[in-house]
Amino acid sequence: MIRLSGTNHLLGHRLWIKDFPKPTEQIQIPYLIIGGGISGLSAARQFHRKGISDFLLLEMADHLGGNSSNGENKHSKYPLGAHYLPLPNFEDKELLHFLEEEKIILGYNEKGLPVFDELQLTFAPDERLFYKNNWQEGVVPKEGNSAEDDREFIRFFKEMDAFRIAKGADQKYLFDIPIYLSSEDQNARNLDKITMQKWFENNNFKSKPLFNYIDYCCKDDFGLGIEFVSAWAGIHYFAGRKQDSVADKNESVLTWPEGNARLAGHLKKYAEKKTLKNHLVYEVKVENNKVVVKAFDDVKKVSVQIIADKVIMATPQFVNQYLIKDRKAFTKEFHYTPWLLATLTVNDLSDNFSFPLSWDNVIYDAKGLGYVYAQHQTLNQVQEKKVITYYYSFSSPDLKKTRKEIYKKDKEYWKQVVFDDLKIAHPDIEEYTEEMEVFILGHGMISPVPDFIFGQAKENAAKNIENRIYFAHTDLSGISIFEEAFHQGINAVNQILNDATLDS
Ligand SMILES: Cc1cc2nc3c(=O)[nH]c(=O)nc-3n(C[C@H](O)[C@H](O)[C@H](O)COP(=O)(O)OP(=O)(O)OC[C@H]3O[C@@H](n4cnc5c(N)ncnc54)[C@H](O)[C@@H]3O)c2cc1C
Repeated sequence: MIRLSGTNHLLGHRLWIKDFPKPTEQIQIPYLIIGGGISGLSAARQFHRKGISDFLLLEMADHLGGNSSNGENKHSKYPLGAHYLPLPNFEDKELLHFLEEEKIILGYNEKGLPVFDELQLTFAPDERLFYKNNWQEGVVPKEGNSAEDDREFIRFFKEMDAFRIAKGADQKYLFDIPIYLSSEDQNARNLDKITMQKWFENNNFKSKPLFNYIDYCCKDDFGLGIEFVSAWAGIHYFAGRKQDSVADKNESVLTWPEGNARLAGHLKKYAEKKTLKNHLVYEVKVENNKVVVKAFDDVKKVSVQIIADKVIMATPQFVNQYLIKDRKAFTKEFHYTPWLLATLTVNDLSDNFSFPLSWDNVIYDAKGLGYVYAQHQTLNQVQEKKVITYYYSFSSPDLKKTRKEIYKKDKEYWKQVVFDDLKIAHPDIEEYTEEMEVFILGHGMISPVPDFIFGQAKENAAKNIENRIYFAHTDLSGISIFEEAFHQGINAVNQILNDATLDS
């Protein structure tokens, strides 16, 4: 059986035509958050921490979590988007604090370093790569490289190690998380003007396995591959994470069968009884020192007007341009890569077992990014059926055109794409698959093309409007990762409270 679903693009597309009924209800509220992804939920948590409870959150979907949501079948939960959080940077105290609140960090050791709950860290074996017809440990191609490839890998990782600790004259890391903490060093920022591929060539790298590996990493975090992504972003993938919150530079990650929906679940409690789901916001404007918001209730099929003092738009800019006037000009600089996720329930994986099934399973030179095995993080030794989620990002030079083409294809087409790619490592996968759910995210994630992260469009989009409408979304960071969303939400609330103090 195959099912095809995705983010609700049909409801979203009504924002173009705006054929909504006139509002028949009105709500008055001091603070309103629009969007219940990690950015919006983190804002809810921050309001709570600041002792503010009179806020409301509107979400167009029937659930919270946005790109950190999950699905579930009778065998397992599985991610429908974000699936892991790397170990946080030691200086990111806000994040450490949150992880402590949620008992992901259980305490601190004698060196002052966090002790992570082992059951929430990836179980071994965590990663494998299908390379030269065999599975091998880790996702970096190793066995089967030429001596020159190996030398290039060593040189590359040495350079990344140097970037990881490098600081600018302002004593800030060249590459930090959240990104806004990074140094203003111009030489580093110039890396945002070229692609990662150009950087690779400029640095005299030639190895194909290294090229493929970096391409995989770029797609993993940005959707776009090495030829389209800014070199600053590409290097940030390796250098932004300081690997300093554990003693042994451990690169393991925090993950759960449902992926980062676990983290969204923790944050949801702050928006409990303050959330209206199935509410698509279609207009936001400042009028008489208030923000007037119109939303369509997709269940009751009526519109609601909300009058708020301050609003946080925790929605992406490709949506905001239809809600607030005069935002189209800079929004066209925001590029979003579509993604396809396919969750397969399989009886077997017809594996050759040269290295055992791991949490993350990557296939060298495949179209997609491989698959994660959801049940890897459960304590059950034997799984009757295995549930795996395959990831595919549509890296292309014309993302708009690609998006249009994607929606023309049917589920049979996608089924074949998924099988053909997985067959490289699992020739019998089709025979062993019982069920497949294909999930398409039309605007998946923000993709940092050159000149975007430090460009004008992003800066313009992030400016608040008349100290009334504030913005918080990962697309305003330029890269889409949990940490950025988490800080976007916190910063928006802090900015609102700060501006209110200055006003009074
Ligand atoms: C395939 C994929 C894999 C990923 N993997 C990882 C990963 O492993 N680790 C990681 O850290 N990050 C990952 N990410 C990045 C992920 O996007 C971020 O971690 C984070 O979830 C983004 O949160 P956000 O709140 O900024 O945005 P979103 O998740 O986009 O949230 C925006 C919310 O606003 C709602 N909304 C939009 N328009 C309206 C409207 N008009 N009215 C009301 N509500 C509206 C949406 O429904 C959504 O809930 C992945 C992303 C994708 C697409």
